[in-house]
Amino acid sequence: MEFFSTRDASLRVSAAKAISQGLSFEGGLFAPVEIPKLTDAEIDSLCAMTYPQRAAYVIGKYLTDFSEEELTNFANAAYHQDKFSSSAIAPVRKLNDTANILELWHGPTSAFKDMALQILPYLLTASMRKCGETKTACILVATSGDTGKAALEGFADVEGTKIAVFYPKDGVSRVQELQMTTQSGNNVYVSSVIGNFDHVQSKMKEIFADEELRAEVAKSNTFFSSANSINWGRAVPQIAYYVSGYCDLINSGEIAKGEQFNVCVPTGNFGNILAAYYAREMGIPIAKLICASNRNNVLADFFKTGKYDKQREFYTTTSPAMDILVSSNLERLLFHLSGNDDATIKKYMAKLASDGAYTVNAEIFAKLNDLFYGGFCDDADTMETISKTFSEYNYLVDTHTAVGINVYNQYVAETGDVKKTLIASTASPFKFADSVLAALGVDLEIDGCELLEILSKTTGVKIPAPLASLAGKEERFVNTLEREQIIDRIMEFVCNSRD
Ligand SMILES: *Cc1c(COP(=O)(O)O)cnc(C)c1O
Repeated sequence: MEFFSTRDASLRVSAAKAISQGLSFEGGLFAPVEIPKLTDAEIDSLCAMTYPQRAAYVIGKYLTDFSEEELTNFANAAYHQDKFSSSAIAPVRKLNDTANILELWHGPTSAFKDMALQILPYLLTASMRKCGETKTACILVATSGDTGKAALEGFADVEGTKIAVFYPKDGVSRVQELQMTTQSGNNVYVSSVIGNFDHVQSKMKEIFADEELRAEVAKSNTFFSSANSINWGRAVPQIAYYVSGYCDLINSGEIAKGEQFNVCVPTGNFGNILAAYYAREMGIPIAKLICASNRNNVLADFFKTGKYDKQREFYTTTSPAMDILVSSNLERLLFHLSGNDDATIKKYMAKLASDGAYTVNAEIFAKLNDLFYGGFCDDADTMETISKTFSEYNYLVDTHTAVGINVYNQYVAETGDVKKTLIASTASPFKFADSVLAALGVDLEIDGCELLEILSKTTGVKIPAPLASLAGKEERFVNTLEREQIIDRIMEFVCNSRD
């Protein structure tokens, strides 16, 4: 299996190269030349497997330059019972007659990012070995909150790597901030940045595209790599949980083998829902992909009109991981839907950069309409959904998952489609304890760890162990940077010899 770039389809690299490099040098994203299919017999055997076995199998379909033994070892280490609070790793929970929740937040940082970032360090360091790469990988992460902590947790003290994480100063919850600023490890750096997530993300993209800087860090025997969802090594493990969710729906009798179901995903950078698209292309019988956005509804508008227009006000919401105006992974989807037409994608991305908007052609738009439903809700609706879901089903959800449930309900009301639906639950409610408590009518002036106790007492739900242990940890990183200072700070971090 080879990978090409969404902006240069003549390029061909191995999976190991795609993962160790992260982003293609001309700015494109690596995408598989062919999407592998799963046969009926393969589905049968996947249904009988454990989560780590399913993950190793699905990942192996794409990473053909890795051995079965390697991937099995990586998956066993990444999806280990010691690190996940559910033995099913990504359990499916029935909510009502049609909705099932795919709980993706049982990992060490209580958000779905762990599903990919627990295994990425293994994939990345193995990719580097396969490519004969002896330099240190300096992982640069722009985060709207959850990726940063999950990447830090995955890469802390991993030989041959360093990791620097940047988050928007007022764009993350206090619990998320504490998770990052208390991170241990000798190869980690964390800083907040003045600005919003898009500002931080575009700065990172700029750094990756800067040839001079690349030459400069090479002198320190280092290269930049990415743990953001633009890295194929992030995308591919996410496909596995949709395959796993399908198997679980069959195993529990919710659907028959081959029966169509919908998938609904609270979406920001489009990585999670893109994984569901790949699962669909592999033959998982997914009917509609329901893309749920918050008040930053650029995707919902895009699916309605075919025009992607980032020129709009940016809102800070109670679902901060979805406060995004430029959804990077959409580029991979459009590339595939265009028939891998790199020239068209290059044109759209150039227009996005110059005019802040582009409109897809009629052919792509028709395919988008067929595959996707886009919807959004605001903070007030999100709050109401949290409160209703708790009172009706005694099920506590976080703000992001609530956006998914709300948009799913809108979809059903609009279409009358009552096919079974798998809704991705992307974070533990405790990560956003302040908003969740407010939704339940408990509005307090305090913030941080005490809220976790109060939420637990109010709802009778247990605090996830990694969050419970935050109280009393020392904050190691309390610096805030202007955007212009990021490069200098990274260079300092790169050039400092390691402990
Ligand atoms: C990252 C994140 C999202 C958005 O996922 P994308 O892959 O960026 O679309 C949604 N919810 C939570 C809790 C997240 O951490």
